Amino acid sequence: DYPLPDYFERTSKSLEWMKKAKEVMPGGVTANIKSFDPYPIVMEKGNGAHLTDVNGNEYIDYLLAYGALMLGHGHEKITEAITKQLHQNGTCLFGTPHELEYTFGKKIQQHYPSMELLRYTNSGTEATLLALRLAYAYTGKYKIAKFEGHYHGGYNEVLVSVSPPLNEAGEELNPNSVIESKGVPEKEAENTIILPFNELEACEAILRRHQHDLAAVMIEPVQGGFIPATEKFIKGLREITKELGILLIFDEVKTGFRVAIGGAQQLYNVKPDITALGKVIGGGFPIGIVGGREEIMLESSPRRGADVFDSSQSKKSKSKDVLFHSGTYNGHPMILAAGLATVEVLEEKIEDVFKNTAFLKQQLEQLFKRYKIGMKAIGIGSIFSVVLTNKENIRNYRDLQQTDLSLRKEIDLHLLNEGIYTKPLNRYSLSTAHGIKEIDATIKAYERVLSKVCG
Ligand code: PLP
Repeated sequence: DYPLPDYFERTSKSLEWMKKAKEVMPGGVTANIKSFDPYPIVMEKGNGAHLTDVNGNEYIDYLLAYGALMLGHGHEKITEAITKQLHQNGTCLFGTPHELEYTFGKKIQQHYPSMELLRYTNSGTEATLLALRLAYAYTGKYKIAKFEGHYHGGYNEVLVSVSPPLNEAGEELNPNSVIESKGVPEKEAENTIILPFNELEACEAILRRHQHDLAAVMIEPVQGGFIPATEKFIKGLREITKELGILLIFDEVKTGFRVAIGGAQQLYNVKPDITALGKVIGGGFPIGIVGGREEIMLESSPRRGADVFDSSQSKKSKSKDVLFHSGTYNGHPMILAAGLATVEVLEEKIEDVFKNTAFLKQQLEQLFKRYKIGMKAIGIGSIFSVVLTNKENIRNYRDLQQTDLSLRKEIDLHLLNEGIYTKPLNRYSLSTAHGIKEIDATIKAYERVLSKVCG
């Protein structure tokens, strides 16, 4: 009774691969997010805006590795940059300081001036994790607040109320801390306070109640990359956290270089205390960056207060005076080279990506109107999502849960058959490789699907 019998025919080899993959990995996948019903499509190669699966079917890729590939697949500048690094410097992992750590860091600071000092990590998850440790170290407090529906990575402190069932989630203005994963101790929920996104008064009340315990508020300033904070909300949150001595952490892993070149902090003109970046800045390779106010970041300096070159102060600090941060691969030169090439291309091309995204959204909206269905394309910059609702405004997780997710999923599966790729229910990200040709093909595919599903 599966609604799409031809899915099985078109993707027969993916099914074969997924059966084999189960011999190697639980569920056949190496990240739960890669799995969907009836089975995920196994890809073979990517080129520009396009993907080819193991059956040879072509897709226009709007998943773009969950937004990471802002120059599309295999951009020549990235290939050039990493090849040069590899050929000049061997395997290119030194385990020592090197030049690109400075050069790339300066480039990041140029666009994110709030990151007065920064550290490299290997993923967005590691970046938000380090951001929290910095906040604990700096404030001497050990609880955090995060927002219902916001994702910051897969570790215990933040795996709380990311997608809670609404019957467990408590009141709208006073949401519960709901553990997301088997294997996370229930007591973790006590240290993570949950806030309602875009509800300033309710947030203020909760923050005041917990101010003496809270080290930081961590937020996706544009939830999921497509539900923006209102200006009043984000500015208000900045003021309240400052007043209460709670650090404000912007998790810009998704929004960095995607909603504006300088991220949501540029868009809103709000200065967080700490920022986490990831995804786009790795040019397709694993990376994270944490940066923020100098006095906070200095918590992780190996010799607190001493100049690097001042041998009179070379006495090592006691380990308990210094925040631990390390990693064999931190600041990997090939990845920083890929990141630098990415940012340099975006400095030239980002406005084109924004224009093309706006055009695609507008064309979709016209189509939805023509078909008289309550459907919207919402988002900012180079990311958007399609929501099925007649509601004027989608403001947070609860609004999103009330949209028609099952029809959206059905549409997405039909779109896969039509060669439009995003994981069912995921958002759409565009790249410099998505041009008018791809947008036209997408609109035509959407029209065929809507006439079948909603016509
Ligand atoms: N923070 C946000 C806002 C994210 O979207 C993600 C990943 O989707 C992460 C953190 C975790 O990043 P990573 O998957 O690189 O560990």
